[in-house]
Amino acid sequence: MRERVILVRYGEIGLKGRNRPQFEKALVRQIRRALAGRPGVDVYRTPGRVWVEPGGDVEGALEALQRVFGVVAASPADRVPLDLDAISQAAATVLEEALAGEKGTGDEPVTFKVEARRSNKAFPLTSLELNQELGRRLLAAHPALRVDVHRPRITVGVEIRHDAAYVYARSVPGPGGLPVGVTGRACALLSGGIDSPVAVWMAMKRGLTVIPVHFHSPPFTSERSKEKVIDLVRILARWGGPLRLWVVYFTEIQRAIQLDCPPQLTITLMRRMMFRLAERIAAREGALALVTGESLGQVASQTLESIHTISRVTTLPVLRPLIGMDKAEIIDRAKAIGTYDVSILPYEDCCTLFVPSQPATRPRPEQAEAAERVRDWEPLLAEALDRSEVLELEEARAAGAF
Ligand code: ATP
Ligand code: MG
Repeated sequence: MRERVILVRYGEIGLKGRNRPQFEKALVRQIRRALAGRPGVDVYRTPGRVWVEPGGDVEGALEALQRVFGVVAASPADRVPLDLDAISQAAATVLEEALAGEKGTGDEPVTFKVEARRSNKAFPLTSLELNQELGRRLLAAHPALRVDVHRPRITVGVEIRHDAAYVYARSVPGPGGLPVGVTGRACALLSGGIDSPVAVWMAMKRGLTVIPVHFHSPPFTSERSKEKVIDLVRILARWGGPLRLWVVYFTEIQRAIQLDCPPQLTITLMRRMMFRLAERIAAREGALALVTGESLGQVASQTLESIHTISRVTTLPVLRPLIGMDKAEIIDRAKAIGTYDVSILPYEDCCTLFVPSQPATRPRPEQAEAAERVRDWEPLLAEALDRSEVLELEEARAAGAF
């Protein structure tokens, strides 16, 4: 029976010096999370490598690794004794499997190379000798192939370690990025829409631990709209959870804006209040940035003037991962992440409910400040935080698709 393990590849650019062990530890932690509950799974590091013992279900483990940020690719490898014949037999097997997956390209011969790496210097052949010897044997068995050391279609990897040799050719792409937790913490403003879940995902992809914050206005917004956001967070948690969701009680602030402020500024003022509250939550959570799903020019509240006037209320950096994306790209990404189907459910959001017919498209900071001067907001802001709910949410284990 074949003994199989998974070799995990991760990006090495920028991973010099002291960052590297920290990155690798976080990666191992995230892989353990993604594989939790699978019998027989083990995850460990050797210098420059992360390995997964997949238990019985290699394909299932490979699929789960596609949701671990930091993973560039994963290769299922055969573990064989430190014996040249055994290694060469395994190389033939993995090469043949890779060939079966190759689409024919007419008369062009399929190219390959062997790439050996010998950390066990007691093994009698050097890496170079292994490359040559294994390449020779593979060519003898498959005369139609060609060796191409620069741009091969198939690379047969061989790792010579102290316990065994590991041989692989298949490579399953991962999501790339950095393991969740390595770059810091940020609070993300999460609505029930299509965009902000994608923004959260992209922030997580760059290694941030994200604390989602949702503004909820019962009874104007229903319990269902809150559940929708919880569902979105559970889907996002598959990519690096658990996630702590703040559901902020926004009703009184919303009502006060509605009653006391010019209707064309409603959205601007609501967003300013959201940013103020998110900044306070960030302070409690040790977060150093806010994340939003804003893009440029999509709607009235996302003109540059509007973004400027809204951002003025916080000194935290506001990260807008979607700023360079078109709506169609955002939708495609939401589908790939798995949030799209939930996002398009119709439950109202506090912003959609209170949209004035003529929102200001170029609100100036002085206008917003003047409008806010009508009352003391501090008691309302404090109450909103006091009445917030904080939920620790585990990932949704979906049947089928994931
Ligand atoms: P989304 O699809 O994320 O709702 P949108 O295109 O509808 O975004 P806006 O309604 O202008 O855009 O919202 C801009 C951003 O403000 C959202 O991406 C989100 O980050 C934040 N936001 C809006 N409403 C809420 C809310 N109820 N709770 C938390 N954040 C919100
Ligand atoms: Mg929205």
